[in-house]
Amino acid sequence: MSKAIICINSGSSSIKFGLFTLAEDGPRHAAGGKLEGIGTDPRLLIRDDEGNVLEQRHWENGAHLGHEELLRAIFAWSDNHLDEYDIVAAGHRVVHGGREFWQPLPIDAHVLAELESFCSLAPLHQPHNLAAIREIARHSPGMLQVACFDTAFHHAMPAVASAMALPRELSQRGFRRYGFHGLSYEYIARQLRHLDPELAQGKVIAAHLGNGASMCAMDGGRSVDTTMGFTALDGLMMGTRTGSLDPGVVIHLQLQEGLTAQQVETLLYKQSGLLGVSGISSDMRALHDSADPRAREAIDLFVWRAARHAAALMSALQGLDGMVFTAGIGENDPLIRKAICERLGWAGLLLDEEANQANAPVISAPHSRVKLRVIATDEERMIALHTHSVYQAQRSVA
Ligand code: ADP
Repeated sequence: MSKAIICINSGSSSIKFGLFTLAEDGPRHAAGGKLEGIGTDPRLLIRDDEGNVLEQRHWENGAHLGHEELLRAIFAWSDNHLDEYDIVAAGHRVVHGGREFWQPLPIDAHVLAELESFCSLAPLHQPHNLAAIREIARHSPGMLQVACFDTAFHHAMPAVASAMALPRELSQRGFRRYGFHGLSYEYIARQLRHLDPELAQGKVIAAHLGNGASMCAMDGGRSVDTTMGFTALDGLMMGTRTGSLDPGVVIHLQLQEGLTAQQVETLLYKQSGLLGVSGISSDMRALHDSADPRAREAIDLFVWRAARHAAALMSALQGLDGMVFTAGIGENDPLIRKAICERLGWAGLLLDEEANQANAPVISAPHSRVKLRVIATDEERMIALHTHSVYQAQRSVA
Protein backbone atom coordinates (compact mmCIF):
# COMPACT_ATOMS: atom_id res chain seq x y z
CA MET A 1 0.00 0.00 0.00
CA SER A 2 1.37 3.42 -0.79
CA LYS A 3 1.28 6.04 1.91
CA ALA A 4 -0.80 9.08 1.09
CA ILE A 5 -2.12 12.30 2.54
CA ILE A 6 -5.45 13.92 1.88
CA CYS A 7 -5.75 17.70 1.60
CA ILE A 8 -9.00 19.47 2.21
CA ASN A 9 -9.93 23.00 1.27
CA SER A 10 -13.39 23.47 2.68
CA GLY A 11 -14.97 26.76 1.64
CA SER A 12 -18.32 28.46 1.89
CA SER A 13 -20.01 26.71 -1.00
CA SER A 14 -17.44 24.20 -2.15
CA ILE A 15 -15.06 21.56 -0.84
CA LYS A 16 -11.92 20.91 -2.86
CA PHE A 17 -9.71 17.96 -2.00
CA GLY A 18 -6.60 16.26 -3.25
CA LEU A 19 -4.99 12.88 -2.62
CA PHE A 20 -1.19 12.92 -2.71
CA THR A 21 1.06 9.87 -2.46
CA LEU A 22 4.31 10.27 -0.54
CA ALA A 23 7.04 9.83 -3.14
CA GLU A 24 10.81 10.17 -2.58
CA ASP A 25 10.77 13.70 -3.96
CA GLY A 26 7.73 14.81 -1.93
CA PRO A 27 3.96 14.57 -2.31
CA ARG A 28 2.72 13.49 -5.73
CA HIS A 29 -0.85 14.24 -6.85
CA ALA A 30 -2.87 11.05 -7.42
CA ALA A 31 -6.49 12.24 -7.51
CA GLY A 32 -8.55 15.27 -6.70
CA GLY A 33 -12.05 16.55 -6.72
CA LYS A 34 -14.43 19.36 -6.10
CA LEU A 35 -17.82 19.33 -4.49
CA GLU A 36 -19.58 22.50 -5.62
CA GLY A 37 -22.94 24.11 -5.04
CA ILE A 38 -23.28 23.38 -1.31
CA GLY A 39 -26.56 24.91 -0.14
CA THR A 40 -27.96 25.20 -3.65
CA ASP A 41 -27.27 22.34 -6.04
CA PRO A 42 -24.50 20.05 -4.80
CA ARG A 43 -22.47 18.11 -7.33
CA LEU A 44 -19.25 16.17 -7.03
CA LEU A 45 -16.55 15.49 -9.60
CA ILE A 46 -13.44 13.44 -8.84
CA ARG A 47 -10.64 12.87 -11.35
CA ASP A 48 -7.40 10.97 -11.28
CA ASP A 49 -4.07 12.55 -12.10
CA GLU A 50 -4.59 12.05 -15.84
CA GLY A 51 -7.96 13.76 -15.81
CA ASN A 52 -10.05 10.59 -16.05
CA VAL A 53 -13.35 10.93 -14.21
CA LEU A 54 -13.45 8.61 -11.18
CA GLU A 55 -16.75 9.80 -9.76
CA GLN A 56 -19.50 12.16 -10.80
CA ARG A 57 -22.52 12.69 -8.63
CA HIS A 58 -25.37 15.15 -8.44
CA TRP A 59 -27.70 15.35 -5.45
CA GLU A 60 -31.17 16.10 -6.84
CA ASN A 61 -32.96 18.42 -4.40
CA GLY A 62 -29.79 18.49 -2.27
CA ALA A 63 -29.97 22.14 -1.23
CA HIS A 64 -30.59 21.13 2.40
CA LEU A 65 -27.39 19.04 2.61
CA GLY A 66 -24.70 20.66 4.75
CA HIS A 67 -20.91 20.39 4.71
CA GLU A 68 -20.82 17.52 7.22
CA GLU A 69 -23.21 15.29 5.28
CA LEU A 70 -21.47 15.98 2.00
CA LEU A 71 -18.03 15.38 3.53
CA ARG A 72 -19.33 12.03 4.75
CA ALA A 73 -20.27 11.22 1.15
CA ILE A 74 -16.70 12.00 0.06
CA PHE A 75 -15.28 9.78 2.83
CA ALA A 76 -17.70 6.98 1.93
CA TRP A 77 -16.42 7.17 -1.63
CA SER A 78 -12.80 7.19 -0.49
CA ASP A 79 -13.38 4.18 1.81
CA ASN A 80 -14.68 2.22 -1.16
CA HIS A 81 -12.24 3.37 -3.82
CA LEU A 82 -8.96 4.26 -2.19
CA ASP A 83 -8.17 1.06 -0.33
CA GLU A 84 -4.81 0.75 -2.10
CA TYR A 85 -3.68 3.84 -0.16
CA ASP A 86 -2.63 4.08 3.47
CA ILE A 87 -3.79 7.59 4.35
CA VAL A 88 -1.40 8.76 7.07
CA ALA A 89 -2.38 12.41 7.45
CA ALA A 90 -4.98 14.99 6.53
CA GLY A 91 -4.03 18.60 5.78
CA HIS A 92 -6.51 21.43 5.95
CA ARG A 93 -6.70 24.98 4.75
CA VAL A 94 -7.66 26.96 7.84
CA VAL A 95 -8.49 30.51 6.96
CA HIS A 96 -7.73 32.34 10.20
CA GLY A 97 -4.80 31.57 12.51
CA GLY A 98 -5.39 34.60 14.73
CA ARG A 99 -2.43 36.14 16.52
CA GLU A 100 -0.92 32.87 17.70
CA PHE A 101 -0.82 30.50 14.77
CA TRP A 102 0.93 30.82 11.44
CA GLN A 103 3.22 27.80 11.11
CA PRO A 104 1.56 24.59 9.83
CA LEU A 105 0.42 22.91 12.99
CA PRO A 106 -0.67 19.44 14.16
CA ILE A 107 -4.21 19.79 15.46
CA ASP A 108 -5.12 18.64 18.95
CA ALA A 109 -8.11 19.47 21.15
CA HIS A 110 -6.46 22.67 22.45
CA VAL A 111 -5.63 23.95 18.96
CA LEU A 112 -9.13 23.10 17.75
CA ALA A 113 -10.69 25.05 20.62
CA GLU A 114 -8.49 28.07 19.83
CA LEU A 115 -9.40 27.89 16.14
CA GLU A 116 -13.09 27.79 17.08
CA SER A 117 -12.68 31.15 18.74
CA PHE A 118 -11.72 32.72 15.37
CA CYS A 119 -14.96 31.66 13.65
CA SER A 120 -16.48 35.12 13.92
CA LEU A 121 -13.44 36.52 12.09
CA ALA A 122 -14.04 34.32 9.05
CA PRO A 123 -17.68 33.23 9.21
CA LEU A 124 -17.88 32.07 5.58
CA HIS A 125 -14.91 29.72 5.93
CA GLN A 126 -13.59 28.92 9.41
CA PRO A 127 -16.66 26.93 10.63
CA HIS A 128 -16.46 24.76 7.49
CA ASN A 129 -12.69 24.30 7.82
CA LEU A 130 -13.23 23.07 11.38
CA ALA A 131 -16.21 20.90 10.43
CA ALA A 132 -13.90 18.98 8.09
CA ILE A 133 -11.34 18.50 10.88
CA ARG A 134 -14.00 17.22 13.28
CA GLU A 135 -15.48 14.91 10.67
CA ILE A 136 -12.08 13.31 9.99
CA ALA A 137 -11.40 12.98 13.73
CA ARG A 138 -14.70 11.07 13.98
CA HIS A 139 -14.02 8.99 10.89
CA SER A 140 -10.33 8.22 11.57
CA PRO A 141 -9.55 8.92 15.22
CA GLY A 142 -5.85 9.33 15.87
CA MET A 143 -4.93 10.31 12.32
CA LEU A 144 -2.48 13.22 12.12
CA GLN A 145 -4.34 16.36 11.04
CA VAL A 146 -2.46 19.52 10.10
CA ALA A 147 -3.79 23.08 9.92
CA CYS A 148 -2.27 25.27 7.18
CA PHE A 149 -3.17 28.91 7.63
CA ASP A 150 -4.25 31.36 4.98
CA THR A 151 -2.88 34.17 7.12
CA ALA A 152 0.65 32.69 7.30
CA PHE A 153 2.10 34.12 4.09
CA HIS A 154 1.38 37.65 5.31
CA HIS A 155 2.67 37.09 8.82
CA ALA A 156 5.89 39.00 8.20
CA MET A 157 4.31 41.99 6.42
CA PRO A 158 5.89 45.27 7.53
CA ALA A 159 4.26 46.63 10.68
CA VAL A 160 2.95 49.63 8.77
CA ALA A 161 1.07 47.34 6.36
CA SER A 162 -0.50 45.25 9.10
CA ALA A 163 -1.42 48.18 11.37
CA MET A 164 -4.91 49.65 11.60
CA ALA A 165 -5.44 53.26 12.63
CA LEU A 166 -7.17 52.28 15.86
CA PRO A 167 -6.25 53.15 19.43
CA ARG A 168 -3.00 51.43 20.39
CA GLU A 169 -4.67 49.31 23.06
CA LEU A 170 -6.81 47.58 20.42
CA SER A 171 -3.80 46.94 18.20
CA GLN A 172 -2.06 45.29 21.14
CA ARG A 173 -5.06 43.00 21.53
CA GLY A 174 -4.65 41.67 17.98
CA PHE A 175 -6.72 44.11 15.94
CA ARG A 176 -4.47 44.17 12.90
CA ARG A 177 -4.53 43.39 9.22
CA TYR A 178 -3.79 39.67 8.79
CA GLY A 179 -4.41 39.10 5.07
CA PHE A 180 -5.74 35.88 3.50
CA HIS A 181 -5.44 33.63 0.42
CA GLY A 182 -1.93 32.98 1.76
CA LEU A 183 -1.70 29.38 0.54
CA SER A 184 -2.56 30.56 -2.95
CA TYR A 185 0.04 33.36 -2.84
CA GLU A 186 2.68 31.05 -1.41
CA TYR A 187 2.06 28.68 -4.30
CA ILE A 188 2.23 31.53 -6.85
CA ALA A 189 5.51 32.80 -5.37
CA ARG A 190 6.91 29.26 -5.53
CA GLN A 191 5.79 28.74 -9.15
CA LEU A 192 7.17 32.10 -10.16
CA ARG A 193 10.60 31.10 -8.82
CA HIS A 194 10.53 28.13 -11.23
CA LEU A 195 8.91 29.84 -14.22
CA ASP A 196 10.47 33.28 -14.11
CA PRO A 197 13.25 33.56 -11.51
CA GLU A 198 14.10 37.13 -12.50
CA LEU A 199 10.53 38.37 -12.08
CA ALA A 200 10.23 36.40 -8.82
CA GLN A 201 12.99 38.63 -7.42
CA GLY A 202 11.08 41.76 -8.37
CA LYS A 203 7.96 43.70 -7.40
CA VAL A 204 4.88 41.69 -8.29
CA ILE A 205 1.16 41.99 -7.63
CA ALA A 206 -0.59 38.63 -7.47
CA ALA A 207 -4.32 38.94 -8.10
CA HIS A 208 -6.36 36.04 -6.72
CA LEU A 209 -9.70 36.68 -8.43
CA GLY A 210 -12.16 33.95 -7.52
CA ASN A 211 -15.39 33.94 -5.61
CA GLY A 212 -13.32 35.44 -2.83
CA ALA A 213 -10.89 37.96 -4.30
CA SER A 214 -7.77 39.71 -3.07
CA MET A 215 -4.40 41.01 -4.22
CA CYS A 216 -0.97 40.63 -2.67
CA ALA A 217 2.04 42.91 -3.19
CA MET A 218 5.11 40.66 -3.24
CA ASP A 219 8.65 41.97 -3.17
CA GLY A 220 11.18 39.23 -3.85
CA GLY A 221 8.46 36.65 -3.22
CA ARG A 222 7.45 38.00 0.21
CA SER A 223 4.18 39.67 1.07
CA VAL A 224 4.61 43.36 1.82
CA ASP A 225 0.94 44.30 1.68
CA THR A 226 -2.39 42.79 0.75
CA THR A 227 -5.96 43.94 0.23
CA MET A 228 -7.72 41.76 2.83
CA GLY A 229 -7.34 42.78 6.44
CA PHE A 230 -8.59 41.74 9.88
CA THR A 231 -11.18 39.63 8.10
CA ALA A 232 -11.60 38.37 4.54
CA LEU A 233 -14.21 41.06 3.95
CA ASP A 234 -11.81 43.88 3.18
CA GLY A 235 -10.36 44.95 -0.16
CA LEU A 236 -11.68 43.95 -3.57
CA MET A 237 -15.34 43.54 -4.43
CA MET A 238 -16.12 39.78 -4.41
CA GLY A 239 -18.84 37.32 -5.40
CA THR A 240 -21.05 38.09 -2.41
CA ARG A 241 -18.79 40.26 -0.19
CA THR A 242 -18.56 44.04 -0.28
CA GLY A 243 -14.81 44.46 -0.04
CA SER A 244 -13.68 47.80 1.44
CA LEU A 245 -16.61 49.80 2.69
CA ASP A 246 -16.96 53.07 4.54
CA PRO A 247 -17.38 51.82 8.14
CA GLY A 248 -19.93 54.60 8.57
CA VAL A 249 -22.35 52.48 6.52
CA VAL A 250 -22.23 49.75 9.16
CA ILE A 251 -22.88 52.24 11.96
CA HIS A 252 -25.71 53.85 10.03
CA LEU A 253 -27.38 50.52 9.20
CA GLN A 254 -27.37 49.57 12.86
CA LEU A 255 -28.19 52.87 14.50
CA GLN A 256 -30.55 54.42 11.97
CA GLU A 257 -31.99 51.45 10.10
CA GLY A 258 -32.17 49.14 13.11
CA LEU A 259 -30.35 46.16 11.57
CA THR A 260 -28.87 43.72 14.07
CA ALA A 261 -25.16 42.88 13.95
CA GLN A 262 -26.09 39.46 12.49
CA GLN A 263 -28.16 41.06 9.75
CA VAL A 264 -25.27 43.36 8.88
CA GLU A 265 -22.92 40.37 8.79
CA THR A 266 -25.21 38.51 6.39
CA LEU A 267 -25.59 41.62 4.23
CA LEU A 268 -21.85 42.28 3.94
CA TYR A 269 -20.70 38.67 3.53
CA LYS A 270 -23.51 36.99 1.63
CA GLN A 271 -25.73 39.53 -0.13
CA SER A 272 -23.32 42.12 -1.49
CA GLY A 273 -20.55 42.14 -4.10
CA LEU A 274 -21.35 40.94 -7.62
CA LEU A 275 -24.58 39.33 -6.37
CA GLY A 276 -25.82 42.40 -4.53
CA VAL A 277 -24.98 44.94 -7.23
CA SER A 278 -26.29 42.86 -10.12
CA GLY A 279 -29.24 41.32 -8.32
CA ILE A 280 -28.57 38.38 -10.64
CA SER A 281 -25.64 36.21 -9.61
CA SER A 282 -22.35 36.05 -7.74
CA ASP A 283 -20.89 34.08 -10.65
CA MET A 284 -18.88 36.11 -13.14
CA ARG A 285 -19.80 33.79 -16.02
CA ALA A 286 -23.50 34.34 -15.40
CA LEU A 287 -22.93 38.12 -15.43
CA HIS A 288 -21.09 37.98 -18.75
CA ASP A 289 -23.98 35.94 -20.16
CA SER A 290 -26.63 38.38 -18.97
CA ALA A 291 -27.99 41.23 -21.08
CA ASP A 292 -29.29 43.00 -17.96
CA PRO A 293 -27.54 46.40 -17.53
CA ARG A 294 -27.15 45.69 -13.80
CA ALA A 295 -24.80 42.81 -14.70
CA ARG A 296 -22.63 45.29 -16.65
CA GLU A 297 -22.67 47.71 -13.70
CA ALA A 298 -21.51 44.98 -11.32
CA ILE A 299 -18.66 44.01 -13.66
CA ASP A 300 -17.62 47.64 -14.12
CA LEU A 301 -17.52 48.18 -10.37
CA PHE A 302 -15.50 44.98 -9.88
CA VAL A 303 -12.94 46.19 -12.42
CA TRP A 304 -12.84 49.78 -11.14
CA ARG A 305 -12.12 48.64 -7.62
CA ALA A 306 -9.61 45.96 -8.64
CA ALA A 307 -7.58 48.55 -10.56
CA ARG A 308 -7.82 51.02 -7.68
CA HIS A 309 -6.50 48.47 -5.17
CA ALA A 310 -3.73 47.41 -7.57
CA ALA A 311 -2.64 51.05 -7.80
CA ALA A 312 -2.53 51.25 -3.99
CA LEU A 313 -0.32 48.15 -3.90
CA MET A 314 2.04 49.76 -6.44
CA SER A 315 2.57 52.46 -3.85
CA ALA A 316 3.30 49.82 -1.20
CA LEU A 317 5.82 48.24 -3.59
CA GLN A 318 7.16 51.58 -4.85
CA GLY A 319 6.91 50.31 -8.42
CA LEU A 320 5.80 47.27 -10.37
CA ASP A 321 7.63 44.69 -12.48
CA GLY A 322 4.91 42.11 -12.94
CA MET A 323 1.33 41.10 -12.28
CA VAL A 324 0.08 37.52 -11.96
CA PHE A 325 -3.58 36.60 -12.40
CA THR A 326 -4.93 33.50 -10.68
CA ALA A 327 -8.10 31.70 -9.41
CA GLY A 328 -11.39 31.18 -11.29
CA ILE A 329 -11.71 34.65 -12.83
CA GLY A 330 -7.98 35.43 -12.95
CA GLU A 331 -7.16 32.21 -14.81
CA ASN A 332 -10.15 32.05 -17.16
CA ASP A 333 -11.61 35.46 -17.86
CA PRO A 334 -9.83 37.47 -20.61
CA LEU A 335 -12.44 40.25 -20.48
CA ILE A 336 -11.84 41.04 -16.82
CA ARG A 337 -8.05 40.84 -17.17
CA LYS A 338 -8.21 43.15 -20.18
CA ALA A 339 -10.42 45.67 -18.42
CA ILE A 340 -8.19 45.76 -15.33
CA CYS A 341 -4.98 46.05 -17.37
CA GLU A 342 -6.46 48.85 -19.50
CA ARG A 343 -7.26 50.88 -16.39
CA LEU A 344 -3.64 50.39 -15.30
CA GLY A 345 -2.13 51.19 -18.69
CA TRP A 346 -0.60 54.40 -17.26
CA ALA A 347 1.59 52.21 -15.03
CA GLY A 348 3.06 50.32 -18.00
CA LEU A 349 0.71 47.34 -18.30
CA LEU A 350 0.16 46.36 -21.91
CA LEU A 351 -1.64 43.17 -22.90
CA ASP A 352 -1.03 40.95 -25.89
CA GLU A 353 -4.66 40.56 -26.97
CA GLU A 354 -4.22 37.13 -28.55
CA ALA A 355 -2.26 35.67 -25.65
CA ASN A 356 -4.83 37.08 -23.23
CA GLN A 357 -7.69 35.57 -25.19
CA ALA A 358 -5.94 32.19 -25.10
CA ASN A 359 -5.28 32.34 -21.29
CA ALA A 360 -1.58 31.92 -22.20
CA PRO A 361 1.05 31.78 -19.42
CA VAL A 362 2.46 35.17 -20.49
CA ILE A 363 -0.18 37.66 -21.62
CA SER A 364 1.83 40.90 -21.82
CA ALA A 365 2.95 42.43 -25.11
CA PRO A 366 6.72 42.11 -25.72
CA HIS A 367 7.26 45.84 -25.07
CA SER A 368 5.01 46.01 -21.98
CA ARG A 369 7.03 47.52 -19.12
CA VAL A 370 5.17 45.29 -16.67
CA LYS A 371 5.18 41.55 -17.33
CA LEU A 372 1.72 39.98 -17.14
CA ARG A 373 1.27 36.30 -16.35
CA VAL A 374 -1.49 33.77 -15.71
CA ILE A 375 -0.67 31.01 -13.22
CA ALA A 376 -3.17 28.40 -12.09
CA THR A 377 -3.18 28.30 -8.32
CA ASP A 378 -3.04 25.05 -6.36
CA GLU A 379 -3.79 25.53 -2.68
CA GLU A 380 -4.16 21.77 -2.19
CA ARG A 381 -0.56 21.16 -3.31
CA MET A 382 0.66 23.80 -0.86
CA ILE A 383 -1.32 22.07 1.92
CA ALA A 384 0.23 18.75 0.84
CA LEU A 385 3.76 20.15 1.05
CA HIS A 386 3.20 21.58 4.54
CA THR A 387 1.40 18.48 5.80
CA HIS A 388 4.17 16.27 4.50
CA SER A 389 6.78 18.35 6.36
CA VAL A 390 4.86 18.08 9.63
CA TYR A 391 4.40 14.33 9.09
CA GLN A 392 8.13 13.86 8.49
CA ALA A 393 9.05 16.00 11.50
CA GLN A 394 6.78 13.91 13.73
CA ARG A 395 8.25 10.67 12.41
CA SER A 396 11.80 11.83 12.98
CA VAL A 397 10.96 12.66 16.60
CA ALA A 398 9.15 9.32 17.17
P1 ADP B 1 -13.57 29.91 -5.03
O1 ADP B 1 -12.45 28.89 -5.01
O2 ADP B 1 -13.28 31.16 -4.26
O3 ADP B 1 -14.93 29.32 -4.75
P2 ADP B 1 -13.00 30.08 -7.85
O4 ADP B 1 -11.54 30.39 -7.81
O5 ADP B 1 -13.43 28.73 -8.32
O6 ADP B 1 -13.70 30.47 -6.50
O7 ADP B 1 -13.66 31.22 -8.79
C1 ADP B 1 -15.04 31.30 -8.99
C2 ADP B 1 -15.28 32.43 -9.96
O8 ADP B 1 -14.53 32.18 -11.15
C3 ADP B 1 -16.74 32.59 -10.37
O9 ADP B 1 -17.09 33.96 -10.43
C4 ADP B 1 -16.73 32.00 -11.78
O10 ADP B 1 -17.71 32.58 -12.59
C5 ADP B 1 -15.38 32.40 -12.25
N1 ADP B 1 -14.97 31.56 -13.38
C6 ADP B 1 -14.65 30.26 -13.38
N2 ADP B 1 -14.39 29.84 -14.63
C7 ADP B 1 -14.56 30.90 -15.43
C8 ADP B 1 -14.47 31.14 -16.83
N3 ADP B 1 -14.15 30.14 -17.66
N4 ADP B 1 -14.71 32.39 -17.28
C9 ADP B 1 -15.06 33.38 -16.44
N5 ADP B 1 -15.17 33.22 -15.12
C10 ADP B 1 -14.93 32.02 -14.62
